[in-house]
Amino acid sequence: MNRKEFFRTIAVGSIAVGAVATNSRCQSSDKGTSPKAPFAQAPLAYDFAALEPHIDKLTMEIHYGKHHTAYINNLNKAVEGTEFADKTLDQLIAGAGTTNAAIRNNGGGHWNHAFFWDILAPGKGGEPTGAVADAINGQFGSFASLKEAFAKEATGRFGSGWAWLVTDNGKLSVGSTPNQDNPLMDISDLKGTPILGLDVWEHAYYLHYQNKRADYINAFWNVLNWDKVAEHLKNA
Ligand code: MN
Repeated sequence: MNRKEFFRTIAVGSIAVGAVATNSRCQSSDKGTSPKAPFAQAPLAYDFAALEPHIDKLTMEIHYGKHHTAYINNLNKAVEGTEFADKTLDQLIAGAGTTNAAIRNNGGGHWNHAFFWDILAPGKGGEPTGAVADAINGQFGSFASLKEAFAKEATGRFGSGWAWLVTDNGKLSVGSTPNQDNPLMDISDLKGTPILGLDVWEHAYYLHYQNKRADYINAFWNVLNWDKVAEHLKNA
């Protein structure tokens, strides 16, 4: 998205967010099982303003109600009437290299954002505990060291993409992917099962943090729901 499109999106988002929030609650959830087309957007489990001051309300409204919704709509269009129409989202992700750019980008966009909303929650953050803390301490030495390694990946991703903490054969590692790719994709250099991830596209932070991506990355830990991270680690 170029600069002009970015600000046009903001203008549209600010007048239409109320309708989006209401409509989204009528749609079925993609969580739990891997859905097939037509894909739908799960409702947010918290209010748009609930993650403030770390992630601001307007960013959440536009990010969830415009960006994520657009990935879903475009994914539905991209698979309709093709050999991919009957695939689950997980199958489209795992075989991204055998699909096409529209399915790869929008399928990744849907998967990544659904995952991201689900690991965030108000009143969370703090330090990891239990098995997650053990795994982090075992691999990185401390939570502080993990944060440092993760921030290096998240700030080092040039342009748009995601930073991830993944588990692969019992080993944790940090890395990043470009655009809407993710570590479950066959074409990804970074491999593994994501247990947490951070959207570092400018649309995820620019309204509040402008060019200060590092501040957004630091703030992320204040709204991370470690209970969800623990679930992802356990299920990996
Ligand atoms: Mn995003």
